Amino acid sequence: MIYLDAAATTPVRREVLEAMWPYLTGEFGNPSSHHGVGASAARALADARRTVAEWFGCRPAEVVFTSGGTEADNLAVKGIALASTRGRHLVLGATEHPAVVESVDYLHRVHGFESTVVPVDAAGLIDPAEFAAALRPDTALATVMLANNEIGTVQPVSALAAAARDRGIPFHTDAVQAAGWLDLRLDALGVDALSISGHKLGAPKGVGALVVRQRIGLEPVLHGGGQERGRRSGTENVAFAVGLAAAVSLADPARVAASAAATTALRDEFVRGVLERVPDAVLTGHPERRLPSVASFCFPGTSGEGVLLGLEERGVIVSSGSACAAGSDEPSPVLLALGIPPRVAQTAVRFTLGADTTRAELVSALAALEAAVASLRTLR
Ligand code: PLP
Repeated sequence: MIYLDAAATTPVRREVLEAMWPYLTGEFGNPSSHHGVGASAARALADARRTVAEWFGCRPAEVVFTSGGTEADNLAVKGIALASTRGRHLVLGATEHPAVVESVDYLHRVHGFESTVVPVDAAGLIDPAEFAAALRPDTALATVMLANNEIGTVQPVSALAAAARDRGIPFHTDAVQAAGWLDLRLDALGVDALSISGHKLGAPKGVGALVVRQRIGLEPVLHGGGQERGRRSGTENVAFAVGLAAAVSLADPARVAASAAATTALRDEFVRGVLERVPDAVLTGHPERRLPSVASFCFPGTSGEGVLLGLEERGVIVSSGSACAAGSDEPSPVLLALGIPPRVAQTAVRFTLGADTTRAELVSALAALEAAVASLRTLR
């Protein structure tokens, strides 16, 4: 099998599992317990928090462990908006993940918030001037993802965050897809809050983190025993937090830079091959400002699902859009936001490389793609 769906999920790395194992077995304590078993779990949790905080260049108290990217996005959007005293207006990008879009929709339906969606150009990029124009005196939060999960386009987040900061508006970014590929130090990005998810970088599904600056008010979404400094109640998932810390330790800046450069070179070669050898293939997203891992296309005259199945028959695993929107036949809202016509958007296929993807795998995947697309087109 050639797995080219790393943006959907990645396998748990052996080092991560080994780091987690003691906290699933012998050291199984509840960090809130007032005895030695609990204390050892509490120490492991504190160590994990410190490691994650160092990765982001923030304070340990600014890390909130969550059940994943979806919860981190929900907590950021709802938590910051509901704690805000500025007003009831939100600003978001046109290609945000459903975890952000639906949280904004909830705030609109239940709490009467208004929102402004900042459009993107044909490559999926937001214009900082248009973003700045959307900010208002009553804006409680602006949220724009760092890198898109379907097309890989990387937004100019530090410029956007600076515009928000100049007006005293909290800025959140969903960095779920960027983790492991881009530098996520908070100061460099200039953001107030950032979401990540463990399963995109070798930790298990079901763990993530919201990093949020201490000065930013955050209304909890989960109420209960007051864990995570009252920001996220529920007995902490110690083993998974340890796993997330192990995964980020493996993604140190030098390793991230090296793997980003190597993967970009492989990805570019693959993109060139697809554009040369698959007639009418269209690259979606920005040609340069994109994640190293993402090669996304439309193949007019096919269907994305058809290409996915044709590739799977040939041993190549890809996604026909965002896994998070799987099961729906609707064209992707992200591709529609780029101005791609619905009929073409339905032919979208996303290849995402992992840090271990090889050139030989991509050569085989390209041959399989040529055959799969040709066979779908002869069936028409
Ligand atoms: N945000 C983005 C950009 C994603 O790609 C995903 C998942 O694919 C999520 C959020 C949700 O993360 P999780 O699967 O951990 O809930």
